[in-house]
Amino acid sequence: MTNSFEIDDGENGDAADVLVCRRMTQPLLMPDNEIGLCSRCGEAIQFRPHVSPLPSKVCEVCIMPEIEQLGARGELHSIITPETAVELGRYLRRKREH
Ligand SMILES: [Zn+2]
Repeated sequence: MTNSFEIDDGENGDAADVLVCRRMTQPLLMPDNEIGLCSRCGEAIQFRPHVSPLPSKVCEVCIMPEIEQLGARGELHSIITPETAVELGRYLRRKREH
């Protein structure tokens, strides 16, 4: 098997096992981020308003060991929605300019 990364324009992440979220920051990483709780550790997390409500939301601290294990076995499948890809591009450009 090999790790994969794709832009999903069909199901918008509905079929994902988990949605990886960043922990709460002050200010939020993006001002319109929504706030919730990590389904594993209960820490406050943030995520984009348009993400699928279906996958369980897990913070980056909880998911990192799993990501490393799956990646080492070549079984990591990452999906990003087109909306998030565009927003991430804008965010990184703004960051570079400042
Ligand atoms: Zn967590």
